[in-house]
Amino acid sequence: MRFSKTIFLAAVLVSAAGCMHEDDDDDDRNAMPAANEESIRDFIRSANGNSYKFPWINADHDTKVATNERLKQWDVTTQGLIPVKHNNVQIAIDAMNAIEDKLGTTLFDRTSIQSTPDDQIQKGIVVSYGTAVGASGGPEANACGHVGALGGSTGWPRNFYGETGHMDSVLQVNLDSSSPDGCTGGLSLDVTIHEFMHALGMGDHFDGFGFGPAIHANAWNVLHNILNNSPGTAMDSLFVEKKFQ
Ligand SMILES: [Zn+2]
Repeated sequence: MRFSKTIFLAAVLVSAAGCMHEDDDDDDRNAMPAANEESIRDFIRSANGNSYKFPWINADHDTKVATNERLKQWDVTTQGLIPVKHNNVQIAIDAMNAIEDKLGTTLFDRTSIQSTPDDQIQKGIVVSYGTAVGASGGPEANACGHVGALGGSTGWPRNFYGETGHMDSVLQVNLDSSSPDGCTGGLSLDVTIHEFMHALGMGDHFDGFGFGPAIHANAWNVLHNILNNSPGTAMDSLFVEKKFQ
C-alpha cells in the first residue's frame, strides 16, 4: 500500500506541478477537433470541480466539502479585476493581452499591486521570471513554467480559495528558467498563456491543455466557461457553451 501511494503522489506531481510541455507542434492532438459541450463540462469537473485533486486539495476539510463538484474562480464580476504584479515581464503582458483578446473581456488589474512588496500583497498573481522548476523541484529541460505559492514553490498556498468557491489568495506564476539546465527550448507564448490558465482556476491537464498542445480550443472553452459561471455553481448546473472551434 505504501508503495502504491508513493507512485500515486509522484504521478500527481508530474501531471500537475511539473507542467512540462514538449515542443509538440507535430502532435496529432494539435489537429484534434474541439470537444463538445458534454466533454467541456467533464474537463471542468476534472480540472476545477474536484476539490480532492491538486491543487484544490490544499484547503481545509470544510472548504473541500463545501466546494467539491462546484466551481472555483476569482469572481471578477463581484470582486473586481485580478491584481497582477507582472514585473514588466513582456511575455506575461503578452499572455494577458492574448487571454483578454481571445475571451473578449478584461480580467487583469495591471497597476494596483505593481509596486507593492510581495509579502504585503493580499490577493492576486505575481509573475516571477527565471524561476520555473519541474517536478523534481529543480530546473528541468522541459520545465518552462509552473504556478505555486509566493517564493517559487510548486505547492499552492494553503486555502487559496474559500468555501464559497472564491479564489482570493496570492499565486506566483513562474516563467522560464535562469539555469542553463532549465527550459532549454525556450519559453513560448503558448506555455505562458497555459500557466496563466492554471492561475485562473484550471488545475489538472486534459486533452488540449498540457496533454498534447499547451493550449487548444478545449483549453479556451474551459477557461471561457469557468469565467462565465459564478463561483460555487454545481458542475451539473454550469451553463456550458462551445465558443471556440
Ligand atoms: Zn500545465
